[in-house]
Amino acid sequence: MAKVLAVLYPDPVGGYPPKYARDSIPEITHYPDGSTVPSPEGIDFKPGELLGSVSGELGLRKYLESHGHQLIVTSDKQGPDSVFEKELPTADVVISQPFWPAYLTADLINKAKNLKLAITAGIGSDHVDLNAANEHHITVAEVTYSNSISVAESDVMQVLALVRNFIPAHEIIQQGGWNIADAASRSYDLEGMTVGIVAAGRIGRAVLERLKPFNVKLLYTQRHQLPAEVEKQLGATFVADVKDLAKVVDVAVLCAPLHAQTYHMFDDKLLATMKRGAYIVNDSRGELVDRDAIVRALESGHLAGYSGDVWYPQPAPADHPWRSMPHQAMIPHMSGTSLSAQARYAAGTREILEAFFENKPIRPEYLIAQDGHLAGVGAKSYTVKKGEETPGSGEKE
Ligand code: NAD
Repeated sequence: MAKVLAVLYPDPVGGYPPKYARDSIPEITHYPDGSTVPSPEGIDFKPGELLGSVSGELGLRKYLESHGHQLIVTSDKQGPDSVFEKELPTADVVISQPFWPAYLTADLINKAKNLKLAITAGIGSDHVDLNAANEHHITVAEVTYSNSISVAESDVMQVLALVRNFIPAHEIIQQGGWNIADAASRSYDLEGMTVGIVAAGRIGRAVLERLKPFNVKLLYTQRHQLPAEVEKQLGATFVADVKDLAKVVDVAVLCAPLHAQTYHMFDDKLLATMKRGAYIVNDSRGELVDRDAIVRALESGHLAGYSGDVWYPQPAPADHPWRSMPHQAMIPHMSGTSLSAQARYAAGTREILEAFFENKPIRPEYLIAQDGHLAGVGAKSYTVKKGEETPGSGEKE
């Protein structure tokens, strides 16, 4: 019997379940690379339900309890008196979502003597100190691709929202106004602009594909250059160094995972080299950028806009400067937790658990770390060096 500890975000303020806007979600069977969406032996939820909050339980309770396992679900994750920290020392499996991350720091991993598996219900495992996970031979797995398209769609929406000045224009209407000049004086067309994608992985490539029909000039930087035929299909030009990309773009879309090489990639120095009036969209991780440098660049007018759903820490405190900085279109961390995405990553979490309990291999594309090393997709996307702790593990700020 195993103890599974799931840290999920709180239920809707109006109670659970919410009144849903639609009765069903489209059925997706494959991802763009041809791989299949999660295929567990079964699911105990209706796709389209809210699964990522505490009462949704990722649809796991029936499955786990019918196999004799214990499931503890909580949103209480901060500090030594939290349910998370109290239950962790005896947990065999921890499930967390990047939207409401249970920061598994080296210190906490040391105390989690039974921990064998840390599952990210979603994508992005930087909330786990991967060095410490490897030292303790903890398997880290995530549901690769489950919400990549969800995020790519949001990235495109946020690019357009910034460039077109959508949110301030909407606010004018809500406040009873009709001043067209105010709405239009920061509104541009995206057509003809140069857009740079930082990291063309699953999300970055999907953003490139979706932006191509807007008749923009597309650049991308990436650890591994894409094959020539893919570049041609996407109409995208490779730029080896992010510094050369930053200098020339009108819009930068950040799609890289957070690790030692990407931590604070966009700092005062890099921002100063960007064109006046450039925009940044970042749905990847808050710490890819220097928080205060972004505020300074927006206040001075050097950046024309910043939009993102990722913050540090999460949840963001009430006085986080990104809540009140000018020319921003910030949202809580939600682009990857649409109801459509939840159905996929809840099923993927179940698939990983089934493999773990039945001693079967976890899909390699789900693996971030295993047997003391980065593994699967983790070996391609992350960097872990001894003594170079994975940023974002909760020990900063
Ligand atoms: P992915 O693994 O398919 O792609 C990441 C790419 O980044 C890889 O191709 C890798 O080679 C590249 N990369 C890594 N370091 C780099 C560097 N220093 N310079 C350039 N490229 C680099 O992952 P994905 O599905 O595209 O997701 C990317 C990230 O987006 C995740 O790690 C996560 O942090 C974030 N994410 C956010 C949400 C959300 O809800 N906001 C949801 C899913 C993922």
